[in-house]
Amino acid sequence: MKSDNLHILGGGPAGLTTGYYAKKHGFPNFTIFEAGEHAGGNCRTLKIKGVDCRYSFLQRDAFRFDTGAHRFHDKDPQVTEEVKTLLGDDLLRVAAPSEIFFEGKFYRFPLLLNDLVQKLETKTLLKITWEKLHHRRRKQADNFADFAINQYGKTLAEHFLLNYSEKLWGQPPHKLSTAISGNRLKGLDLRSFLRSTVLGTPQNPAHLDGSFFYPKYGIGMISDKLCEFIGPDHIKLKHRVNRLVHKNGRIERIIINKVSDSQRVTAAQNEIEIPVSTVINTLPLTLSMRMLDPPPPPELSAVADTIKYRHLLLCVFCLNRDTFSSNASIYFPSEEFPFTRLYEPKNRSSHMAPKGQTVIVLELPCYNDNAVWNMSEATLQTEVWEALSRVKPIRQEEIIHYQSYKLPFAYPVLEVGFEENVARLVAYFETFENLYLTGRSSLFRYLHLHDLFKAGQEVVAQIRNA
Ligand SMILES: Cc1cc2nc3c(=O)[nH]c(=O)nc-3n(C[C@H](O)[C@H](O)[C@H](O)COP(=O)(O)OP(=O)(O)OC[C@H]3O[C@@H](n4cnc5c(N)ncnc54)[C@H](O)[C@@H]3O)c2cc1C
Repeated sequence: MKSDNLHILGGGPAGLTTGYYAKKHGFPNFTIFEAGEHAGGNCRTLKIKGVDCRYSFLQRDAFRFDTGAHRFHDKDPQVTEEVKTLLGDDLLRVAAPSEIFFEGKFYRFPLLLNDLVQKLETKTLLKITWEKLHHRRRKQADNFADFAINQYGKTLAEHFLLNYSEKLWGQPPHKLSTAISGNRLKGLDLRSFLRSTVLGTPQNPAHLDGSFFYPKYGIGMISDKLCEFIGPDHIKLKHRVNRLVHKNGRIERIIINKVSDSQRVTAAQNEIEIPVSTVINTLPLTLSMRMLDPPPPPELSAVADTIKYRHLLLCVFCLNRDTFSSNASIYFPSEEFPFTRLYEPKNRSSHMAPKGQTVIVLELPCYNDNAVWNMSEATLQTEVWEALSRVKPIRQEEIIHYQSYKLPFAYPVLEVGFEENVARLVAYFETFENLYLTGRSSLFRYLHLHDLFKAGQEVVAQIRNA
């Protein structure tokens, strides 16, 4: 093992999984620097404090919500085993359906033909069938709009996918890369529907969204357990990385700003300089470019400026009613709703809300110059609540508590051609011999938790073999 001193930048899942494997492999000196008051990044569970819930003396009787609707995907058996070992009996196998709310009706998600047949108008169904029969598949779709139309036909794609994608990513679908579909659309084309309905061949269960793993007290338990394993001595909270000082192709020092609670201490007074040997960077790619000291060549800074991240605003309502729905998530493709998704944590684990009460979370994707990101709490609450009451009858008096929560850098926006730009930036970072990149925003890849376990494992293996 060449390097025995690791500096890990960012305490989200990418930083934590790297720390986890560093500890497992016996690295004695490694430190995670996290700007926030808590580790876990965009994968945390928040407990709502001070809200009057019945039986509040019990651990289970608190309102909890995740930083966006999360589930643990059972995609990699080795990673799943690792997470099972970390959580033990607290990792639950959950079966909860999801639905799409469109033009006043709820549709199963992923789409099912028999459900569509029952709920769509006959003329729409005929249109969908006609389109499928006459649609000439373009050889290789190079944007999401063409990809979705190839898979589903125009009408189905427009009803359920294209408008939703535009809301989620804030870009017209023809500007979005086919990579945004991930694996979610595979095997869900109209031909598979017809096969499953007419011939009785079951749809691939892997695509039916209903079954997944979820920790008893929210997804944040995974981050919490990683922190526990790593140990508090290795995690420096309220330590914001400001600059990466480099020389001769190596990162020599990092400049950290200790985030102070006191107004009287200036940022400069709180700056510390740390010499480094090996750096693992999980911070957003664009932010990291701006941190470089001396700065990168201007043409690369210009490339970095073309890269966008989507933020997410969460509107959280604690309600004095047993449930809002039985769904894990409800998706809202129509523009008339300011939110894209509603999730009800209780339908993932009953421990996420007190008995007889529930909490629902509405997700509003935005950029930081969008009006909604800067809206007052009161206006936001009113707008979201009004839209929500068009989904189901719900009374104002049922609200026990409301709050919003901002989630920056929630999604890398995968626009057509993004790969080339990202590759140029990543290649530049790779020229620093003691710097490694991992994480969703750092690699600008649509990574999930299980991918980050894998990535953490790989980066530690690379360092051990260096
Ligand atoms: C709405 C939503 C739903 C999701 N659903 C799922 C799901 O169902 N299943 C799944 O597996 N994954 C899901 N994900 C993805 C998962 O949450 C991310 O993959 C994961 O959070 C990315 O981890 P990360 O460490 O790469 O980045 P982040 O979580 O963004 O962490 C980065 C960390 O760096 C810190 N930081 C930033 N700047 C600085 C600085 N200057 N100095 C020090 N620290 C800094 C931040 O405070 C943060 O803690 C979802 C994500 C979102 C947003």
